[in-house]
Amino acid sequence: MLSKEKTRKAIEIMGQVFPNARTSLQADTSFHFLLAVILSAQTTDIAVNKLTPAFFARYPTPETLANALPTDVMNLIKTIGLYRNKTKYMITCAQGLVTRFDGVVPHSRSELMTLPGVGRKTADVVLAEWFHIPAFAVDTHVNRIAKRLSIVPQKADVLTVEKVLMAKLPSQLWIAAHQRMIFWGRYQCTARSPKCTTCPLLELCAEGQKRLLQSPES
Ligand code: SF4
Repeated sequence: MLSKEKTRKAIEIMGQVFPNARTSLQADTSFHFLLAVILSAQTTDIAVNKLTPAFFARYPTPETLANALPTDVMNLIKTIGLYRNKTKYMITCAQGLVTRFDGVVPHSRSELMTLPGVGRKTADVVLAEWFHIPAFAVDTHVNRIAKRLSIVPQKADVLTVEKVLMAKLPSQLWIAAHQRMIFWGRYQCTARSPKCTTCPLLELCAEGQKRLLQSPES
């Protein structure tokens, strides 16, 4: 298992390779950022960013979306996956914001998670990326990288991955570490073809060393 010191070292090296790692979701308000995160489930940020300008212009506030017709919303987001469910969640989420939070996106995970369509990961992304409140959202990339680098046990569930990462890294590094691990997973240590031969983390990575022994070209 990677020590606290080596975990921090790995995150530092990721930061040197990707100094500008940050969310690519585009939004102008906390409400729109929350919607963008809901829309991004199992879809690329690029696909979300393509449709959000028109979608946000049509629904500038929680009140406007709370009163929207589902068919109108679906027509604006039907280029992405799960658009029917996302439509339902976003409208009921907007209704929840209006009726229970005066139309203001709450700043706590527990309150965010009372909104339809907002799970722990979505809440953590909103807290960290929009409000800059330390949180560690574990998505597929973070989960994979944490395991490949043996930062967490191989069989750890998502909540354990989050807790171990938070325990091994200082809170002021959580937001940056999350962003760097996502970039690392997208561009260096991809699910199917990790670039182990050129990886600056190879020295710290037992998984990478094992892969190179098995297949020196990987
Ligand atoms: Fe991923 Fe390979 Fe780098 Fe390890 S050495 S972090 S498996 S790319």
